[in-house]
Amino acid sequence: MDEKNLEKLRQEVDAINFELLRLINQRGALVKEIANVKQKQGQPKFDPMRERAMLNRLIERNEGPFDDKTVSYLFKQIFKASLSLQQEDNSRRLLVSRERHAENTIVDVGGKLIGAQPIIIAGPCAVESEEQIEIVAQELVAQGLSFIRAGAFKPRTSPYDFQGLGLEGLKILRKVADKYDLKVVSEIVSPVDIPLATEYVDVIQIGARNMQNYELLKAAGMVKTPVLLKRGISATIEELIFAAEYIVSKGNSQVMLIERGIRTYERWTRNTLDILAVPILKQETHLPVLVDISHSAGRKDIAIPIAKAALAAGADGIMVEFHPDPEVALSDANQQLNHAQFRELLTSLRTGNFI
Ligand code: PEP
Ligand code: MN
Repeated sequence: MDEKNLEKLRQEVDAINFELLRLINQRGALVKEIANVKQKQGQPKFDPMRERAMLNRLIERNEGPFDDKTVSYLFKQIFKASLSLQQEDNSRRLLVSRERHAENTIVDVGGKLIGAQPIIIAGPCAVESEEQIEIVAQELVAQGLSFIRAGAFKPRTSPYDFQGLGLEGLKILRKVADKYDLKVVSEIVSPVDIPLATEYVDVIQIGARNMQNYELLKAAGMVKTPVLLKRGISATIEELIFAAEYIVSKGNSQVMLIERGIRTYERWTRNTLDILAVPILKQETHLPVLVDISHSAGRKDIAIPIAKAALAAGADGIMVEFHPDPEVALSDANQQLNHAQFRELLTSLRTGNFI
Protein backbone atom coordinates (compact mmCIF):
# COMPACT_ATOMS: atom_id res chain seq x y z
CA MET A 1 0.00 0.00 0.00
CA ASP A 2 2.85 2.38 0.97
CA GLU A 3 4.58 1.54 -2.31
CA LYS A 4 1.49 2.52 -4.28
CA ASN A 5 1.10 5.74 -2.33
CA LEU A 6 4.72 6.68 -2.96
CA GLU A 7 4.31 6.08 -6.66
CA LYS A 8 1.20 8.28 -6.74
CA LEU A 9 2.98 11.08 -4.87
CA ARG A 10 5.91 10.84 -7.24
CA GLN A 11 3.60 11.10 -10.21
CA GLU A 12 2.06 14.23 -8.70
CA VAL A 13 5.52 15.78 -8.22
CA ASP A 14 6.42 14.89 -11.80
CA ALA A 15 3.22 16.52 -13.05
CA ILE A 16 4.01 19.66 -11.02
CA ASN A 17 7.53 19.73 -12.50
CA PHE A 18 6.09 19.69 -16.00
CA GLU A 19 3.57 22.37 -15.05
CA LEU A 20 6.37 24.49 -13.53
CA LEU A 21 8.38 24.07 -16.72
CA ARG A 22 5.41 25.21 -18.77
CA LEU A 23 4.82 28.21 -16.49
CA ILE A 24 8.49 29.22 -16.42
CA ASN A 25 8.62 29.18 -20.20
CA GLN A 26 5.32 31.03 -20.45
CA ARG A 27 6.83 33.60 -18.10
CA GLY A 28 9.97 33.69 -20.28
CA ALA A 29 7.92 34.42 -23.40
CA LEU A 30 6.14 37.30 -21.62
CA VAL A 31 9.44 38.68 -20.36
CA LYS A 32 10.76 38.69 -23.93
CA GLU A 33 7.70 40.62 -25.06
CA ILE A 34 8.31 43.14 -22.29
CA ALA A 35 11.97 43.39 -23.44
CA ASN A 36 10.83 44.26 -26.95
CA VAL A 37 8.57 47.04 -25.68
CA LYS A 38 11.34 48.37 -23.41
CA GLN A 39 13.82 48.24 -26.29
CA LYS A 40 11.52 50.37 -28.45
CA GLN A 41 11.01 52.86 -25.64
CA GLY A 42 14.74 52.92 -24.82
CA GLN A 43 14.04 51.78 -21.25
CA PRO A 44 16.56 49.76 -19.21
CA LYS A 45 15.88 46.03 -18.95
CA PHE A 46 16.68 45.68 -15.27
CA ASP A 47 14.29 47.34 -12.87
CA PRO A 48 15.57 46.66 -9.33
CA MET A 49 12.71 48.59 -7.62
CA ARG A 50 10.10 46.46 -9.33
CA GLU A 51 12.02 43.30 -8.53
CA ARG A 52 12.32 44.21 -4.84
CA ALA A 53 8.58 45.02 -4.62
CA MET A 54 7.71 41.69 -6.24
CA LEU A 55 9.98 39.71 -3.89
CA ASN A 56 8.31 41.46 -0.91
CA ARG A 57 4.85 40.58 -2.18
CA LEU A 58 5.85 36.95 -2.76
CA ILE A 59 7.23 36.68 0.77
CA GLU A 60 4.02 38.23 2.19
CA ARG A 61 2.00 35.50 0.50
CA ASN A 62 4.35 32.68 1.39
CA GLU A 63 2.53 30.02 3.41
CA GLY A 64 5.41 27.50 3.49
CA PRO A 65 6.71 24.89 3.83
CA PHE A 66 9.54 26.79 2.10
CA ASP A 67 10.88 29.58 4.32
CA ASP A 68 11.01 33.20 3.08
CA LYS A 69 14.71 33.07 2.38
CA THR A 70 14.33 30.04 0.14
CA VAL A 71 11.35 31.54 -1.69
CA SER A 72 13.28 34.74 -2.21
CA TYR A 73 16.30 32.78 -3.50
CA LEU A 74 14.23 30.66 -5.91
CA PHE A 75 12.45 33.67 -7.41
CA LYS A 76 15.71 35.61 -7.64
CA GLN A 77 17.03 32.77 -9.85
CA ILE A 78 13.97 33.06 -12.08
CA PHE A 79 14.40 36.85 -12.30
CA LYS A 80 18.08 36.46 -13.15
CA ALA A 81 17.40 33.86 -15.84
CA SER A 82 14.74 36.13 -17.35
CA LEU A 83 17.12 39.08 -17.44
CA SER A 84 19.78 37.06 -19.23
CA LEU A 85 17.11 35.84 -21.63
CA GLN A 86 16.42 39.48 -22.47
CA GLN A 87 20.11 40.30 -22.76
CA GLU A 88 20.91 37.28 -24.93
CA ASP A 89 18.15 38.35 -27.19
CA ASN A 90 19.59 41.81 -27.33
CA SER A 91 23.07 40.62 -28.36
CA ARG A 92 21.55 38.24 -30.88
CA ARG A 93 20.04 41.29 -32.46
CA LEU A 94 23.33 43.20 -32.79
CA LEU A 95 23.94 44.25 -36.37
CA VAL A 96 27.56 43.10 -36.16
CA SER A 97 26.66 39.64 -34.84
CA ARG A 98 27.08 36.47 -36.84
CA GLU A 99 23.58 35.45 -35.78
CA ARG A 100 22.16 38.51 -37.43
CA HIS A 101 24.22 38.15 -40.60
CA ALA A 102 25.79 34.77 -41.32
CA GLU A 103 28.08 35.69 -44.24
CA ASN A 104 31.47 37.31 -43.73
CA THR A 105 31.54 41.03 -44.39
CA ILE A 106 34.09 41.81 -47.07
CA VAL A 107 35.27 45.40 -46.77
CA ASP A 108 35.87 47.06 -50.09
CA VAL A 109 38.58 49.70 -49.86
CA GLY A 110 38.41 51.28 -53.30
CA GLY A 111 38.55 47.90 -55.01
CA LYS A 112 41.00 46.26 -52.54
CA LEU A 113 39.17 43.72 -50.44
CA ILE A 114 39.66 42.94 -46.76
CA GLY A 115 38.10 39.74 -45.43
CA ALA A 116 38.60 37.66 -48.55
CA GLN A 117 42.34 36.84 -48.58
CA PRO A 118 44.76 37.64 -45.72
CA ILE A 119 46.22 41.11 -46.21
CA ILE A 120 49.13 43.07 -44.76
CA ILE A 121 48.83 46.67 -43.62
CA ALA A 122 52.32 48.06 -43.12
CA GLY A 123 54.06 51.34 -42.61
CA PRO A 124 55.69 53.52 -39.99
CA CYS A 125 54.16 54.40 -36.67
CA ALA A 126 53.94 58.05 -37.70
CA VAL A 127 54.27 60.18 -40.82
CA GLU A 128 57.54 62.05 -40.29
CA SER A 129 58.30 63.40 -43.77
CA GLU A 130 57.36 62.97 -47.41
CA GLU A 131 60.72 61.30 -48.10
CA GLN A 132 60.08 58.71 -45.39
CA ILE A 133 56.61 57.87 -46.77
CA GLU A 134 58.04 57.69 -50.32
CA ILE A 135 60.60 55.06 -49.25
CA VAL A 136 57.94 53.05 -47.43
CA ALA A 137 55.57 53.22 -50.40
CA GLN A 138 58.27 52.00 -52.78
CA GLU A 139 58.98 49.03 -50.53
CA LEU A 140 55.28 48.17 -50.25
CA VAL A 141 54.83 48.31 -54.03
CA ALA A 142 57.96 46.18 -54.53
CA GLN A 143 56.42 43.64 -52.16
CA GLY A 144 53.09 43.68 -53.98
CA LEU A 145 51.20 45.14 -51.00
CA SER A 146 48.27 47.54 -51.19
CA PHE A 147 47.82 49.18 -47.78
CA ILE A 148 50.04 51.78 -46.16
CA ARG A 149 49.61 52.74 -42.53
CA ALA A 150 51.06 55.79 -40.76
CA GLY A 151 49.73 58.08 -38.07
CA ALA A 152 49.25 61.78 -38.71
CA PHE A 153 47.44 62.35 -35.41
CA LYS A 154 49.35 60.50 -32.73
CA PRO A 155 47.69 59.88 -29.36
CA ARG A 156 50.83 59.79 -27.20
CA THR A 157 51.03 58.91 -23.54
CA SER A 158 52.95 62.10 -22.77
CA PRO A 159 51.79 65.48 -24.11
CA TYR A 160 55.47 66.36 -24.64
CA ASP A 161 56.05 63.49 -27.09
CA PHE A 162 55.78 63.94 -30.87
CA GLN A 163 52.07 64.43 -31.60
CA GLY A 164 52.19 63.84 -35.35
CA LEU A 165 52.12 66.18 -38.34
CA GLY A 166 48.31 66.45 -38.34
CA LEU A 167 46.72 67.61 -41.60
CA GLU A 168 50.16 67.98 -43.19
CA GLY A 169 50.74 64.27 -42.50
CA LEU A 170 47.44 63.30 -44.13
CA LYS A 171 48.33 65.35 -47.21
CA ILE A 172 51.69 63.59 -47.52
CA LEU A 173 50.02 60.19 -47.20
CA ARG A 174 47.40 60.99 -49.84
CA LYS A 175 49.94 62.38 -52.28
CA VAL A 176 52.32 59.44 -52.04
CA ALA A 177 49.57 56.82 -51.93
CA ASP A 178 48.01 58.23 -55.11
CA LYS A 179 51.37 58.17 -56.83
CA TYR A 180 51.85 54.46 -55.99
CA ASP A 181 48.20 53.36 -56.06
CA LEU A 182 48.16 52.46 -52.37
CA LYS A 183 45.32 52.67 -49.85
CA VAL A 184 45.85 54.83 -46.78
CA VAL A 185 45.06 53.62 -43.26
CA SER A 186 45.44 56.42 -40.73
CA GLU A 187 44.16 57.22 -37.28
CA ILE A 188 41.60 59.92 -36.58
CA VAL A 189 41.30 61.00 -32.96
CA SER A 190 38.53 63.56 -32.99
CA PRO A 191 34.97 63.55 -34.37
CA VAL A 192 35.56 66.98 -35.91
CA ASP A 193 38.29 65.50 -38.12
CA ILE A 194 36.06 62.78 -39.62
CA PRO A 195 35.08 64.93 -42.64
CA LEU A 196 38.81 65.58 -43.17
CA ALA A 197 39.43 61.84 -43.06
CA THR A 198 36.95 61.15 -45.84
CA GLU A 199 39.00 63.47 -48.03
CA TYR A 200 42.45 62.04 -47.29
CA VAL A 201 42.27 58.47 -46.01
CA ASP A 202 40.85 55.22 -47.36
CA VAL A 203 40.46 53.57 -43.96
CA ILE A 204 39.79 55.51 -40.76
CA GLN A 205 41.69 53.92 -37.90
CA ILE A 206 40.16 54.35 -34.47
CA GLY A 207 42.91 53.76 -31.95
CA ALA A 208 42.93 51.71 -28.78
CA ARG A 209 42.70 54.83 -26.61
CA ASN A 210 39.56 55.90 -28.43
CA MET A 211 37.70 52.61 -28.67
CA GLN A 212 35.11 53.92 -26.26
CA ASN A 213 35.05 57.49 -27.52
CA TYR A 214 31.40 57.17 -28.44
CA GLU A 215 31.14 60.52 -30.19
CA LEU A 216 34.04 59.51 -32.45
CA LEU A 217 32.43 56.10 -33.11
CA LYS A 218 29.12 57.76 -34.00
CA ALA A 219 30.83 60.27 -36.30
CA ALA A 220 32.71 57.43 -38.05
CA GLY A 221 29.38 55.66 -38.43
CA MET A 222 27.93 58.56 -40.35
CA VAL A 223 30.37 58.40 -43.26
CA LYS A 224 31.01 55.73 -45.87
CA THR A 225 34.79 55.42 -45.37
CA PRO A 226 35.75 51.97 -43.99
CA VAL A 227 36.79 51.93 -40.34
CA LEU A 228 39.48 49.88 -38.62
CA LEU A 229 38.55 49.70 -34.95
CA LYS A 230 41.28 48.79 -32.48
CA ARG A 231 40.58 46.96 -29.26
CA GLY A 232 40.98 49.19 -26.21
CA ILE A 233 43.94 48.67 -23.90
CA SER A 234 41.73 47.16 -21.23
CA ALA A 235 38.58 46.47 -23.19
CA THR A 236 36.78 43.16 -23.09
CA ILE A 237 35.84 41.39 -26.32
CA GLU A 238 32.21 42.30 -25.65
CA GLU A 239 33.08 45.99 -25.26
CA LEU A 240 34.91 45.88 -28.59
CA ILE A 241 31.85 44.33 -30.24
CA PHE A 242 29.58 47.01 -28.76
CA ALA A 243 31.98 49.71 -29.95
CA ALA A 244 31.74 48.28 -33.48
CA GLU A 245 27.96 48.24 -33.11
CA TYR A 246 28.05 52.00 -32.43
CA ILE A 247 29.59 52.55 -35.86
CA VAL A 248 27.46 50.07 -37.80
CA SER A 249 24.22 51.21 -36.12
CA LYS A 250 24.84 54.72 -37.47
CA GLY A 251 24.92 53.39 -41.03
CA ASN A 252 28.53 52.52 -41.84
CA SER A 253 28.72 48.75 -42.38
CA GLN A 254 32.36 48.79 -43.49
CA VAL A 255 33.95 48.02 -40.13
CA MET A 256 36.99 45.87 -39.33
CA LEU A 257 38.21 44.84 -35.89
CA ILE A 258 41.82 44.65 -34.83
CA GLU A 259 43.27 42.92 -31.79
CA ARG A 260 46.32 44.89 -30.63
CA GLY A 261 47.03 43.38 -27.25
CA ILE A 262 45.60 44.21 -23.85
CA ARG A 263 47.33 45.36 -20.68
CA THR A 264 48.24 42.63 -18.25
CA TYR A 265 50.93 42.19 -15.57
CA GLU A 266 53.36 40.84 -18.18
CA ARG A 267 56.36 43.12 -18.70
CA TRP A 268 58.41 41.32 -21.33
CA THR A 269 55.96 42.44 -24.00
CA ARG A 270 54.35 45.87 -24.33
CA ASN A 271 50.88 44.32 -24.19
CA THR A 272 49.54 40.78 -24.13
CA LEU A 273 48.25 39.68 -27.52
CA ASP A 274 44.91 38.03 -26.87
CA ILE A 275 45.05 35.50 -29.67
CA LEU A 276 41.82 33.91 -28.39
CA ALA A 277 40.00 37.08 -29.38
CA VAL A 278 40.58 36.26 -33.05
CA PRO A 279 38.49 33.06 -33.34
CA ILE A 280 35.95 34.44 -30.87
CA LEU A 281 35.46 37.65 -32.85
CA LYS A 282 35.28 35.67 -36.08
CA GLN A 283 32.64 33.43 -34.54
CA GLU A 284 30.57 36.13 -32.84
CA THR A 285 30.72 38.76 -35.57
CA HIS A 286 30.76 38.78 -39.36
CA LEU A 287 33.41 41.53 -39.55
CA PRO A 288 37.00 41.10 -40.76
CA VAL A 289 39.41 40.60 -37.84
CA LEU A 290 43.03 41.70 -38.00
CA VAL A 291 45.96 41.49 -35.61
CA ASP A 292 48.47 44.25 -34.89
CA ILE A 293 51.74 42.42 -34.25
CA SER A 294 53.66 45.61 -33.43
CA HIS A 295 51.67 47.38 -30.72
CA SER A 296 50.82 44.06 -29.07
CA ALA A 297 54.37 42.81 -28.68
CA GLY A 298 56.20 46.15 -28.60
CA ARG A 299 59.25 44.29 -29.91
CA LYS A 300 60.31 42.98 -33.26
CA ASP A 301 62.31 39.85 -32.54
CA ILE A 302 59.15 37.74 -32.37
CA ALA A 303 57.31 39.34 -35.31
CA ILE A 304 57.38 36.21 -37.48
CA PRO A 305 55.90 33.70 -34.99
CA ILE A 306 53.21 36.17 -33.85
CA ALA A 307 52.19 36.94 -37.42
CA LYS A 308 51.95 33.21 -38.14
CA ALA A 309 49.95 32.60 -34.98
CA ALA A 310 47.54 35.39 -35.91
CA LEU A 311 46.96 34.08 -39.41
CA ALA A 312 46.74 30.47 -38.20
CA ALA A 313 44.08 31.60 -35.70
CA GLY A 314 42.00 32.89 -38.59
CA ALA A 315 42.94 36.58 -38.80
CA ASP A 316 42.06 38.30 -42.07
CA GLY A 317 45.33 40.14 -42.02
CA ILE A 318 48.03 41.68 -39.93
CA MET A 319 49.19 45.19 -39.24
CA VAL A 320 52.91 45.72 -38.80
CA GLU A 321 55.04 48.80 -38.28
CA PHE A 322 57.84 49.19 -40.79
CA HIS A 323 60.21 52.19 -40.87
CA PRO A 324 63.13 52.86 -43.24
CA ASP A 325 65.32 53.73 -40.27
CA PRO A 326 63.64 52.63 -37.01
CA GLU A 327 66.48 53.83 -34.82
CA VAL A 328 65.70 57.46 -35.58
CA ALA A 329 61.89 57.03 -35.59
CA LEU A 330 60.03 59.73 -33.66
CA SER A 331 57.72 57.15 -32.02
CA ASP A 332 57.71 53.40 -31.29
CA ALA A 333 61.36 53.01 -32.34
CA ASN A 334 61.68 49.64 -30.55
CA GLN A 335 59.00 47.82 -32.44
CA GLN A 336 59.30 49.03 -36.03
CA LEU A 337 60.87 46.62 -38.50
CA ASN A 338 63.59 47.81 -40.89
CA HIS A 339 63.71 46.85 -44.58
CA ALA A 340 65.55 43.57 -44.02
CA GLN A 341 63.32 42.49 -41.13
CA PHE A 342 60.19 43.44 -43.07
CA ARG A 343 61.30 41.39 -46.08
CA GLU A 344 62.19 38.45 -43.86
CA LEU A 345 58.70 38.56 -42.34
CA LEU A 346 56.99 38.60 -45.73
CA THR A 347 59.20 35.83 -47.11
CA SER A 348 58.52 33.67 -44.10
CA LEU A 349 54.75 34.19 -44.37
CA ARG A 350 54.80 33.50 -48.09
CA THR A 351 56.93 30.39 -47.99
CA GLY A 352 54.74 29.06 -45.17
CA ASN A 353 51.63 29.80 -47.28
CA PHE A 354 50.25 32.10 -44.60
CA ILE A 355 49.59 34.80 -47.17
C1 PEP B 1 48.78 52.92 -34.02
O1 PEP B 1 48.42 51.91 -34.65
O2 PEP B 1 49.38 53.86 -34.56
C2 PEP B 1 48.46 53.03 -32.58
C3 PEP B 1 48.63 54.16 -31.93
O3 PEP B 1 48.03 51.88 -32.04
P1 PEP B 1 47.07 51.65 -30.75
O4 PEP B 1 45.92 52.59 -30.89
O5 PEP B 1 46.68 50.21 -30.90
O6 PEP B 1 47.91 51.90 -29.54
MN1 MN C 1 53.03 52.95 -33.17
